[in-house]
Amino acid sequence: MAAISVGPIRIAIVGVGKIARDQHIPSITDNADFELVATVSSQSGLDDIANFKTLKHMLEQGPELDAVALCTPPSVRHELALLALEHRKHVLLEKPPGATLSEIDDLTALADQDELSLFATWHSRFAAAVQPAKHWLQGKQLRRATILWKEDVRHWHPGQEWIWDAGGFGVFDPGINALSIITEILPRPIFIKDATLLFPENRAAPIAADMNFTDSANTPIRFELDWRQTGPQTWDIEIETDQGTLLLQKGGSVMSIGGNVHIEENVSEYDGIYRRFADLIKNRESDVDVRPLRHVADAFMRGHHLKTEAFTS
Ligand code: NAP
Repeated sequence: MAAISVGPIRIAIVGVGKIARDQHIPSITDNADFELVATVSSQSGLDDIANFKTLKHMLEQGPELDAVALCTPPSVRHELALLALEHRKHVLLEKPPGATLSEIDDLTALADQDELSLFATWHSRFAAAVQPAKHWLQGKQLRRATILWKEDVRHWHPGQEWIWDAGGFGVFDPGINALSIITEILPRPIFIKDATLLFPENRAAPIAADMNFTDSANTPIRFELDWRQTGPQTWDIEIETDQGTLLLQKGGSVMSIGGNVHIEENVSEYDGIYRRFADLIKNRESDVDVRPLRHVADAFMRGHHLKTEAFTS
């Protein structure tokens, strides 16, 4: 069984990039269950916190710790998670949890065997309206669903070259957030019927994707992902049922039914993530749901791959 200190869970962040700075560090700092004791960064890390250039170096030479939060791109996450689990640390994975499904199976087996907590996070599931939407949909007949996830890659991912590499996910980096919400709130499993993925001719990852899904009741479920949208940004899920239409907007923070707003609240999704991680560690449990990643893999496998004009940042 993993050694847990008495007192806060001693945690280290690996990869001090945008999401670590914007969300993980504030949420850890605000949560009395955690103490940030170190970072792993190829840069300088944070003031007043010990920084190590590699995870291996930190695990061998660094302060005592119980857990790591992996905030790197997904392509390097398996190697890091494996090393951390082998050193008997609980592991939080940013989304997407890895570059392939098999990697996650490997990590899950190791965590289970050693009674360590592995948490594959889906931050959008912690948005304010997601659980109320799931609750409202229960027992209703679905007629159709339309998911529009359209944003400006130049605004949200400036200088992030990894996102365009094979295993970088391209437009599925935000698109998997929509899949994480839809797999959480719909009452039945969904599966892909057809897809068209558009790859810039100079990039290995798609800039847009049109996909049609369905479920065992033949509900039409349409996804449109696009990274070329300037002006207003769109993160909307509309679900028509026999008892009215539910609209989730702003990534799951606003819920309207029949045109009337029922919830409009900006909560910190990452505060929710860290509350959940603390509970998982205390109960020696894992939370690994690979359904959103499986749908992305299916889209790459089932879809037409078409070329479009080159992308320059
Ligand atoms: P980022 O700004 O590029 O930061 C990633 C950090 O990971 C880098 O700064 C680097 O840390 C480290 N790293 C380790 N190996 C790397 C490699 N091979 N290439 C590039 N960086 C490497 O990316 P991010 O936006 O924080 O995204 C990281 C993860 O969080 C992604 O999986 C993303 O989907 C997820 N996420 C991002 C957002 C967002 O709004 N940006 C929101 C939710 C989730 P050091 O410089 O410290 O070495």
